[in-house]
Amino acid sequence: MEDTISAVITALGEGAVGIVRVSGEGALAVGEKLFKAASGKALGTYAPNTLVYGHVFDADGSLVDEVLAVYMRAPKSYTAEDVVEIQCHGGLQSLKKILALTYTAGARPAEPGEFTKRAFLNGRIDLTQAEAVMDIIRSRSEASLKLAARQQQGQLAGELRRLRKDLVDVVVNLEAVIDYPEEDIEDVTYGRVQESLGSCTDAISNLLAHAHTGKILREGLRTAIVGRPNVGKSSLLNALLKEDRAIVSQYAGTTRDVIEEQLLLDGVPLVLADTAGIRSTDDFVEKIGVEKSRQLLQEAELVICVVDGSEGLTGEDEEILKAAEGKPCVIIVNKSDLGMQVDLVALQKRFGEDKVMTLSAKTLSGVEAFSAWLKNYVYGSEGTLGEGAYIQNSRQENLLRQALSALEDAATAADNMLPYDCIVIDVRTAIDLLGEITGDTVQDEIINEIFSRFCIGK
Ligand code: GDP
Repeated sequence: MEDTISAVITALGEGAVGIVRVSGEGALAVGEKLFKAASGKALGTYAPNTLVYGHVFDADGSLVDEVLAVYMRAPKSYTAEDVVEIQCHGGLQSLKKILALTYTAGARPAEPGEFTKRAFLNGRIDLTQAEAVMDIIRSRSEASLKLAARQQQGQLAGELRRLRKDLVDVVVNLEAVIDYPEEDIEDVTYGRVQESLGSCTDAISNLLAHAHTGKILREGLRTAIVGRPNVGKSSLLNALLKEDRAIVSQYAGTTRDVIEEQLLLDGVPLVLADTAGIRSTDDFVEKIGVEKSRQLLQEAELVICVVDGSEGLTGEDEEILKAAEGKPCVIIVNKSDLGMQVDLVALQKRFGEDKVMTLSAKTLSGVEAFSAWLKNYVYGSEGTLGEGAYIQNSRQENLLRQALSALEDAATAADNMLPYDCIVIDVRTAIDLLGEITGDTVQDEIINEIFSRFCIGK
């Protein structure tokens, strides 16, 4: 029998209502031990999903809180197990006390993500949906919320399972001709394999082409604003923020010791590394030079290189530009209101015409165009999210790339009319990799790793 687990599932802090969830075979027994309905009847005598008014009492019979309790019978619950949820007053004390009482009644503390993990293990949701739950909890921008919600309905998983089924058909057909070679008409067999593989690789390439968008929406676009002191980096940022009334929050990165700043520019979530104080003081400005810029460049998914157009390029500008070359970057030639000393044509030749923009952080001319460029960079020309499945994160993207590469190997083998066995091996690899994304073939460690990234109570 699986353990019965419990946790507070609402945000900790002051709220009108807080909820303790108990899940597992013993959930009803645990719930009945601490909850007494005002009617005097046991919780289990009510029809499932009925909200029952009553009280929670301590072991010594003293009143803990006035609550509502609900029993959800397996499999019709979040975890697909028996679940009891107790809604109490939102204060920390009451929640803590009720949680402690569930432990004494036989539940154990739920691990981070364990409710969702059980929903997955019990087959109620697939792995991409589980990841989407985490995204919904964390999502910052409206677009990413929309994406996560769609994912949770299983769009990506649906698409991947369709592909997987097609590939399984390829394997089945090949194995049939391996087993019954007399049935084989080589040309037809290779031709069919090439056709099926072609449509699968197209579909995967398409998903990968949009991976960028999905990942940015979820994780934010890692952006570095670089340039020598006084070219107008802070001013540019301020101008962007003003323009878009961005939501800015600052937090210390959990995995690395740097301050990261998140901002939402017109629905584009950016993560700016190490910009502590960029908006409030000039200290930062003094510190950021070539060395610092190089460091920031390392991790950036987009480099915004700022130069002072009114001065002409200095040696320091050159070094920073050189460091940015080859990275996804955009060159902002700032202070356009003061006249143009920089050779724009040369810059455009070097970085691409669409990657060099003139702008004035002071008069704000060009700021809107840059905002639009940024939006286009993330969402593509439509400017909004289209329908369809999106990859959500690097885990999915990596697996998909590996699957694509296995299928390309299989296609090459088919082109060269290599033995069917060789093709089968590669296609099987791809099938397993696709299954890993949805959790159909995923190994235990990976599942544990994924769910450990949840918070407790999810
Ligand atoms: P940073 O060191 O790169 O962050 O540069 P700042 O944003 O602190 O700007 C340095 C100086 O240039 C400040 O005095 C700004 O007011 C000024 N500045 C920034 N952008 C412009 C601009 O587009 N036009 C003009 N005229 N001055 C600007």
